[in-house]
Amino acid sequence: MPLIHNLGFPRIGAQRELKFALENYWRAEINSDALEATAAGLRSKHWQIQDTLDLVPVGDFSLYDQVLDMSFLLGNVPQRISELNGDELQAYFRLARGRAPQDPDSQSVAAGELTKWFDTNYHYIVPEFEKDTRFSLNVSRLLSQIIEARTQGHNAKPVILGPLSYLRLGKARDGSNKLDLLPQLLKVYNELFKALQASGIEWLQIDEPILVTELDLQWQRAFTQAYHELRRGDIKVLLATYFGELQDNLLLACELPVDGLHIDAINARSEVSKVIDWLPAHKVLSLGVIDGRNIWRADINALLDYLEPIEKRLANRLWLAPSCSLLHVPVDLRSETALASDVHSWLAFAVQKLAELTLLAQALENGREPLEEALRQNAEALQSRRDSKKTTNPQVRAALLALRPDMSARDTDFTARAALQQSQFKLPLFPTTSIGSFPQTLEIRRARKLYREKKLDQKEYEHFLQREIRHCLQQQESLGLDVLVHGESERNDMVEYFSEHLQGYARSQFGWVQSYGSRCVKPPILFGDVARPEAITVTWAKYAQAQTTKPVKGMLTGPVTLLNWSFVRDDQPRSETCRQLALAVREEVLDLEKAGIAIIQIDEAALREGLPLRRTQWSNYLDWAVSCFRLSANGVQDTTQIHTHMCYSEFNDIMEAIAAMDADVITIETSRSDMELLDAFDQFAYPNGIGPGVYDIHSPNIPHADHIVALMRKAAQKIPAQRLWVNPDCGLKTRRWEEVAPALSNMVEAAKQLRAQFT
Ligand code: GLN
Ligand code: ZN
Repeated sequence: MPLIHNLGFPRIGAQRELKFALENYWRAEINSDALEATAAGLRSKHWQIQDTLDLVPVGDFSLYDQVLDMSFLLGNVPQRISELNGDELQAYFRLARGRAPQDPDSQSVAAGELTKWFDTNYHYIVPEFEKDTRFSLNVSRLLSQIIEARTQGHNAKPVILGPLSYLRLGKARDGSNKLDLLPQLLKVYNELFKALQASGIEWLQIDEPILVTELDLQWQRAFTQAYHELRRGDIKVLLATYFGELQDNLLLACELPVDGLHIDAINARSEVSKVIDWLPAHKVLSLGVIDGRNIWRADINALLDYLEPIEKRLANRLWLAPSCSLLHVPVDLRSETALASDVHSWLAFAVQKLAELTLLAQALENGREPLEEALRQNAEALQSRRDSKKTTNPQVRAALLALRPDMSARDTDFTARAALQQSQFKLPLFPTTSIGSFPQTLEIRRARKLYREKKLDQKEYEHFLQREIRHCLQQQESLGLDVLVHGESERNDMVEYFSEHLQGYARSQFGWVQSYGSRCVKPPILFGDVARPEAITVTWAKYAQAQTTKPVKGMLTGPVTLLNWSFVRDDQPRSETCRQLALAVREEVLDLEKAGIAIIQIDEAALREGLPLRRTQWSNYLDWAVSCFRLSANGVQDTTQIHTHMCYSEFNDIMEAIAAMDADVITIETSRSDMELLDAFDQFAYPNGIGPGVYDIHSPNIPHADHIVALMRKAAQKIPAQRLWVNPDCGLKTRRWEEVAPALSNMVEAAKQLRAQFT
């Protein structure tokens, strides 16, 4: 029977137990013993769930982030943190969040940078390096978890990040060459091997996910050298890669001196046979055949057809696993009692994925017959998905076939449109606006909850929201903003809200996935053709516009962002699904326009994060992503002004694609990077209106007017003042009115000063 194992289990807990324990601990409502007890309880429960596996992961559990754990394991804690008083746990959370919990004087310190883990929505804390960074082994936490697992009767396989990926994912703050640190780092890895040897484990999983990215010769060589220098002793090493194809790193990965290789047989299926050919005969091959990134039930019969010949060839050298850590999927489908039963039967969360793995292994061992019943159930569920009327909508398909290229293009170019729009809006130079949401007060969240629980009826809820909208507009008017918004108080989340109003989407109740630290997201499930049965935002937008003579922006989430922040069907290309989303958004745009909303913002916060891991694939993604945005936005009259918003400052490398979207105005996050973004304009002249963010909404700090003036003057050196807007970096929903009001007031004041300076 092929050995089955797991690369990592979701740590947050089926009921988000870890989140609540962490937040209680940070608020000093529980002590560190209570936090550690919750953590140990979760580990124990999760190992129990994984008990049918031959090897269970240890070290995948983390109180905040596994890369941060690695920095502590390697003794790589920046001096600004290590020099402060307090124990290790305090230092840990200082580096994670910029402040120690339970610290009476609560000294704040710069937190480590958060960045996306490859192309997932999980964020890790970026390791920091300097030329003279020194490492030292600090293995007690990992060792005690190994002992914990072994005493509970599990066959523990510790999981660590490999030395090359650890270096690659970090940042050399002084610009030094990170690879210079490798020899020293390897010494610590070798000490780690020694320590693990004594713990009695047989296998160690070393993750080197950077093997699926483009590596230059220097890094490829470093791999070979490093792995030859590792003194593994009796410990067997499984080298794990995931998220993509190895491509030109394939040979390298096969030949590194380790005892086994794990590859992602979902995303790199086409490489499996090559790897089988190249992998030396003494090595184990672990195939990640169950999708660790998505929530669809696997086709076990098809997998058996695929695996049976491989198993014949590899015999006990074949291992099976999910494609990557299950960190990226929710814990247990059995909690989902509100899903339609057919949709429910099409899904598998972490617990179900492990059961699929067990079923696969048993069927490979004993043949399919004894498992007939389970295999039949699996086949039936998949058949019901294929046959379901819910997943195909002939009207949507026909509408997509009827698309014409001119539907995605505005009638005239930006300059001509801008003149028409200006004669209508008569906006001042440096117009001021916001990104959409305003503080989501306790009251707003409470009303939404009561409404969801049916303790507030439709009428009462509507009146509540109308009051909120009026309040939000009054505030904006008295602050003196030029283009207003309704405030988005009806939305819990910019993707979930739209998913609730679109056909083809389902929502889970407990489908939480960790985004960073204690933050989780609950991506909606896009299972079928997307259609918009009726207008979604028009009533609110119309209501808001009726309260004021200033223009109020209609607010929508764009197709690419809806796609990138959902669990998306896997039975057709993502680009196709995105076009359906685009069509639905387009209908909403046109309805808003018909209702007299003359400025419409279509947020594409997540456009950049959909970029493939390899640059060679970028242009393909950008082509369809941009064309989907254009389809959603560009059907309007010249007099309607389209805005879009993006939340990232690394803009340079995709500037042309962003320009090709042809929005009249783009607002973008920039304030933290001091307008560094604008350097991109030296190479490429962005042709349309742009609002570089001047208020860092992630910080409680209130920007001064002269600071904003200085930032905007910097911007005006690169972009003609006539095309500049003044706005915050992003939505204000996580801030309090006490912060937002003075910040926006300073912003309006700054705009006044700028107008005086530029006319
Ligand atoms: N319109 C949204 C808001 O203001 C945009 C949020 C985002 O970019 N993440 O909240
Ligand atoms: Zn944003």
